[in-house]
Amino acid sequence: MAEPIIQEFHPHLIGYPVRFAWRSEPRKVMNKIAFATAEIVKGRFAQFVMTDDEKAMDGQDNGAAMFWIEVAEPCWEEATERQRLAVLDHELLHCVIEDTDDGDRKMAIHTHDIEEFEAIITRHGIYREDYWSFALAMNEASDGVRPDLTP
Ligand SMILES: [Zn+2]
Repeated sequence: MAEPIIQEFHPHLIGYPVRFAWRSEPRKVMNKIAFATAEIVKGRFAQFVMTDDEKAMDGQDNGAAMFWIEVAEPCWEEATERQRLAVLDHELLHCVIEDTDDGDRKMAIHTHDIEEFEAIITRHGIYREDYWSFALAMNEASDGVRPDLTP
């Protein structure tokens, strides 16, 4: 299911080790239930499961680093197809290949575009420049209509 998403939206990840695993229970991240999480796993376990081609990619950390995405099975089971695609796309967006200052490349995990409280936006409005494009995207996506999110 992730392969077409990588091909269409994350072509920089083609050839890089990206592995998915189920979790029987969702993780809690900052007191919120996480449908899925993305991280970089390094070391012997990564070395064991990665292919030789993956180990040879630019930005590899001595041939033993991979993107590791865990998906909470109970959340997945309750999700719609659209939500599943969005969650996979979301987790893959955390996975980046960065150019370093010394001209090399490295695998990295990026955080979200915005981290904010609804109450702050309610009280103070869009008070940061980088929130504006996010607000436009939210507005365009919703078009003022609450989406049907029932599974
Ligand atoms: Zn995220």
